Amino acid sequence: MSNVSHELRTPLTIISGYIQSILRRGDNLSEIQTEALTTASSEADRTVQLLQDLLDLARLDSGRLQFQPENILLNDLIKEVVGMAKQYSNRAIKIDLESEIVAIKADSHRLKQVLLNLIDNAVKYSEPETPVTLKLIRKNNFAAIQVCDRGVGIPLPQQGRIFERFFRVDESRNRAGGTGLGLSIVKTLVEGMGGNISVRSQLNEGSTFTISFPTQQ
Ligand code: ADP
Repeated sequence: MSNVSHELRTPLTIISGYIQSILRRGDNLSEIQTEALTTASSEADRTVQLLQDLLDLARLDSGRLQFQPENILLNDLIKEVVGMAKQYSNRAIKIDLESEIVAIKADSHRLKQVLLNLIDNAVKYSEPETPVTLKLIRKNNFAAIQVCDRGVGIPLPQQGRIFERFFRVDESRNRAGGTGLGLSIVKTLVEGMGGNISVRSQLNEGSTFTISFPTQQ
């Protein structure tokens, strides 16, 4: 799986790059041509993302994915991640932080990947005018980060299954493209770093994903 993903990802990335450069310089393209190239570009990007997810899963399964644990100040990391997320979307992202500094031991690169994935879902499964909120909570010896949206929500019977590979709640309501792999990778990464993930959600009200880690003293 790892080799195939690698072999496919490189040419697809090149294809995607060429399409985007044609689109950028395409003053003389007809409307239909622009539309076709835009679709081709977004499908290529989606497939590159799928291959990246498959590569991550293959590495996680074979134990080849190494974590680099370090002390992380969550207050700073959350601000950084929100700054990154704002480059990809225009959505209002609110931050609700503890006033005291909260530190954990984890792999900062992988933790950012986890939070960006949860923010990406929060944006994907809610309306553009609703906000996404990141909260940092410290309770006893645990630090929890919550990613909250006011979107479509997840029906109770499916809430236990969303962390399974390729599981998507309902293809018909999933306007936004996806592969159903994101949350399974998120869960494996969080647990690999000694943390925990859970979800609380109500249909048409919104969802809150909580990841928690033991704090550093
Ligand atoms: P996908 O690529 O489909 O987004 P994920 O593994 O990230 O895959 O999520 C699995 C499914 O869980 C999604 O297809 C969606 O149905 C549901 N889901 C995930 N996050 C949310 C959210 N914030 N609000 C509502 N549904 C969600």
